[in-house]
Amino acid sequence: SVHHHIVIVGGGTAGITVAARLLNENEKLDVAIIEPSEKHYYQPLWTLVGGGMCKPEESERCEADLIPYGAEWIKDFVATFDPENNSLTTRSGQTITYDHLVVAPGIQINWDAIEGLKDAVGKEGVCSNYSFATVGSTWENIRNFRGGTAIFTQPAGAVKCGGAPQKICHLAEDYFRREGIRDKCEVVFASASPRIFAVDKYAKTLERVIQRKGTITKFRHNLKAIRPDSKQAVFEQLDTGEEVILKYDMLHVTPPMGAPDFVAQSPLANDDGWVDVDKHTLQHCRFYNVWSLGDASSLPTSKTAAAIRKQAPVLVENLLAEKNGQSLKASYDGYTSCPVVTGYDSLVLAEFNYDKEPAETFPFDQSKERFSMLMLKKYGLPNLYWHGMLKGRT
Ligand code: FAD
Repeated sequence: SVHHHIVIVGGGTAGITVAARLLNENEKLDVAIIEPSEKHYYQPLWTLVGGGMCKPEESERCEADLIPYGAEWIKDFVATFDPENNSLTTRSGQTITYDHLVVAPGIQINWDAIEGLKDAVGKEGVCSNYSFATVGSTWENIRNFRGGTAIFTQPAGAVKCGGAPQKICHLAEDYFRREGIRDKCEVVFASASPRIFAVDKYAKTLERVIQRKGTITKFRHNLKAIRPDSKQAVFEQLDTGEEVILKYDMLHVTPPMGAPDFVAQSPLANDDGWVDVDKHTLQHCRFYNVWSLGDASSLPTSKTAAAIRKQAPVLVENLLAEKNGQSLKASYDGYTSCPVVTGYDSLVLAEFNYDKEPAETFPFDQSKERFSMLMLKKYGLPNLYWHGMLKGRT
């Protein structure tokens, strides 16, 4: 079997950021990243790709170019964890042992959880921003829409970037308006949640946005099946249990998501399947040498890249402290950020912590829609991501 001092599972946002920070602290550390994919995606851009503001390729880089200098890339899937023996296995049959383990394989998209979705997505009016393969179909549909009912869904349970399901709805509505066809369209936001946003300060603004746009909201509506032949979307009304059928001409689906199966089935998981870590130290609740951050972790905050930017330095500081026999001093406060795009020239930059209190970066009221914040999302944040965050610099 192979041994590394620090093994990182997943070379996505969290895995690369942690690896870069570890090696910036000490270039002699023995760090390995287990990541099966040749490509790495800056997923926050997919909202803008779906809205026709960016090309899909702009979100994609070769994984090989992002693995920090000094780290070893093991190109494989992790299959099982054996934390009692500081060991894991991969799909190709390798056993890898470690002194410290960082688990960051992201969230799993459960395309199969909606009847008919897998076959329908990408075709005849059904689209989704939630994969590189399908995000192009969103823009195709928005661009070619000539009127009728456009439905945008948000599932029950955790999703990455809680605001993303509505961003694409706001963009599409704005596009239809600019094309002069808005009066021929019904724009419907059908969400399993009870309200538009979890934090009051931003919810107030977003409620006004919905009103101004004339978007029809259907809260507590959870998509459960798609019938592409009759263009019907079948929802469950979560309070009454009743079945609601809506006809669509265009349907943007945010698929249900959950903990990756191989994590949920392992001794590392909590009852909901996420890697069970302390919400402040990011150390595993039962295994002192296991750590987690990002979408696969149990951290009870909105799952975003912005959150990982604040989690990574805490994890790295605490892991190195543990390794050196010191006490864990760094603490994560649940900071997360959700740039809610409300149109082609406006964005509400929500930032908040575990207590759902605003934790804003800029010295102005961020609950206002602003053009400057849209520019930040389109140009500023991607640069910060590729050149700052993934290099362990910010
Ligand atoms: P990922 O970046 O998804 O990486 C997980 C990695 O683990 C992948 O490379 C995968 O190949 C690998 N992996 C999977 N299984 C295995 C295995 N068995 N073994 C080894 N490796 C494995 N965030 C924001 O901050 N702002 C936004 O505006 C925003 N908007 C978004 C819009 C959309 C449409 C989407 C989809 C996401 C958005 N996000 C946004 C969320 C953000 O992209 C994620 O929160 C972030 O990428 C999570 O990082 P991660 O490292 O946990 O997972």
